[in-house]
Amino acid sequence: MTPTTPLLWQTATLERVVPQTARVSSFFFRLSQPFRHVAGQHVDVRLTAPDGYVAQRGYSIGSGPESEPGVIELCIEELEGGEVSPFFHEVAKPGDEIELRGPLGGHFIWTEPMGGPVLLIAGGSGVVPLMAMARHRAALGSQVPMALLYSARVWDELIFREELLQLHGARNGFDLVLTLTRDAEKREGARGRRIDSAMVMEAIDQFPEPPKLVYLCGSNAFVAAASDAVIAAGIAETAIRTERYGG
Ligand SMILES: Cc1cc2nc3c(=O)[nH]c(=O)nc-3n(C[C@H](O)[C@H](O)[C@H](O)COP(=O)(O)OP(=O)(O)OC[C@H]3O[C@@H](n4cnc5c(N)ncnc54)[C@H](O)[C@@H]3O)c2cc1C
Repeated sequence: MTPTTPLLWQTATLERVVPQTARVSSFFFRLSQPFRHVAGQHVDVRLTAPDGYVAQRGYSIGSGPESEPGVIELCIEELEGGEVSPFFHEVAKPGDEIELRGPLGGHFIWTEPMGGPVLLIAGGSGVVPLMAMARHRAALGSQVPMALLYSARVWDELIFREELLQLHGARNGFDLVLTLTRDAEKREGARGRRIDSAMVMEAIDQFPEPPKLVYLCGSNAFVAAASDAVIAAGIAETAIRTERYGG
């Protein structure tokens, strides 16, 4: 039996911040102890106040494993009244150090040998680990069929929007299906309702066979509703892997 080594905390330096939407930004951290992650994994972040109070949260790694060595992208939504997420948006600045540990998670991951077709379903910031999977596929030039069904409230809250539209536009086996639940305007190519089984069927329409793997990520309520839609679409429950962000 191999003893499991506890993952050690390390410091990471905030290098740059790239706004994604009004409430979401990408935070690029340089690791003091570089690691290579697998698409879908996350890190724990730990903040310690001057009085010693500690707050810890999980954040998915948005960058693909092939991106800039030693740097990871965390993409964080600012939750009003939250303990940790507002710190990144309102206090942290380039050059600051935080503590993190990882990479964590061995179930909600995708590597090319795991194959496909792969259906990704995201609600809001739940797109982050799925973006790492899409980026990984693109970096490898993989032919594994992959589709992302992505739900947000409005067009301007679609994180990674331009990059996703580009991946879709490449027409090389990556399909993007968007749905906006509260956009007053009709957006070309975007559905205007919550995810249901018909939308799941539409997302997998281009697949040569039913999805082998389905990854669902978002708030607790989103993951529960999307799981029901996937099962109602006739996809085996055993294919589904979920990551719940809380809320
Ligand atoms: C494995 C994992 C990966 C995650 N990856 C990401 C990520 O990539 N990006 C990201 O922005 N977040 C991610 N999260 C969520 C993150 O860990 C925090 O829960 C989130 O940032 C809120 O923390 P907070 O301290 O700001 O708010 P808290 O002080 O914890 O909560 C403030 C209020 O917001 C509610 N709340 C907490 N989480 C959510 C939520 N997700 N949606 C709606 N309401 C919520 C709480 O119930 C509470 O009422 C991830 C969570 C897990 C478990």
